Amino acid sequence: VLLNPQSGAGRALEDFQVVVQPMLADADITPTVFVTERPQHAQEKVQDEDLSQWDVLVVMSGDGLLHEVLNGLMERSDWEQALQTPLCILPGGSGNALAASINYYAGNDHVAKKKLLTNCTFILCKGLHAPMDLVSLSTASGKRFFSFLGFGWGFIADVDIDSEKYRRLGNARFTLGTLQCLVRLRIYQGRLSYLPAATEPGSPRDPKTRRATPTAGTEALSEDRELPADTLLVPLGQPVPPHWVVVPEEEFVCVYAIYQSHLGTNLLMAPEARLHDGCIHLFYVRAGISRVALLKIFLAMGRGTHLDLNCPHLHCIPVRAFRLEPRGSAGIMTVDGEALACEPVQGQIHGHMCRVVTG
Ligand code: ADP
Ligand code: MG
Repeated sequence: VLLNPQSGAGRALEDFQVVVQPMLADADITPTVFVTERPQHAQEKVQDEDLSQWDVLVVMSGDGLLHEVLNGLMERSDWEQALQTPLCILPGGSGNALAASINYYAGNDHVAKKKLLTNCTFILCKGLHAPMDLVSLSTASGKRFFSFLGFGWGFIADVDIDSEKYRRLGNARFTLGTLQCLVRLRIYQGRLSYLPAATEPGSPRDPKTRRATPTAGTEALSEDRELPADTLLVPLGQPVPPHWVVVPEEEFVCVYAIYQSHLGTNLLMAPEARLHDGCIHLFYVRAGISRVALLKIFLAMGRGTHLDLNCPHLHCIPVRAFRLEPRGSAGIMTVDGEALACEPVQGQIHGHMCRVVTG
């Protein structure tokens, strides 16, 4: 169990001892707890850990720590093998989107806080795991990340990062942040392009498009594998392939590519999304929307009914890949809720990349 004592309202260790440990004891599971001391600590820990000694890698924190762990695993030369170790998220942070999504996929009622933690611990005790898709994101400056939750720019990304200062409020930080960002509503300029899921011939479920297949011979020489190739993408310097869609409007309030159902404990953004549906659910809100309409979208998202509003500024498309080229570098981007400097980014889905404990 990789536990971040600073996550959320700072009660993760206490919650672990009070809620999680007794349930694990009842299930005859003896956890080993590793308390992180600083950012990157968990990422470094999993980079050279003997994973064969663990049945499951549990993250008790927010989505940010799982993002670190995942990218730490991807930095290993044996990443493909390492990703076979099931991952589990126990909500200890202020942003617990994956935990809320897994609770939803399991068919449980919507819950938060300790009830969500109890549900997720029960799922861990049962110990079933399933494949999860990941999205590979590359930036113009040459960075590459693997992401399990979402990529954002504009309104939602600003709320996420601006509200970090209120993390002691737990999930309520997002409500306060949303209201603040609504007051000074900004417009973000850039070009958005995507590869629709419907028209793309090779599905990411197809093993041929799913991973870079090492050429015969190299496989025999070494057990280490190249990172999976982004076969749907062309370099950021080149125009997107002709069968991609380029959004004609270039002024947005927000762009969010999500690959789980929940954006936060109380935000059911993509009710159709599943752990391995092979899809990126691309949302964008065009500029020109009123504050009231935007607020209505966020309120409706609590129940996942925002698309029923038929707001002409809100678009949602299932895609396999996308590219975002912001004009200028002002503002912030987020990957799995973690901040990223604003620059051109593109990403594509990789089906069934890792395993996650699920109900
Ligand atoms: P939250 O949902 O509360 O933001 P996260 O899991 O996203 O929780 O964690 C937030 C950040 O805390 C991550 O970027 C992680 O690197 C960092 N972190 C991990 N351990 C510590 C620590 N001991 N002290 C401070 N920050 C830490
Ligand atoms: Mg976080």
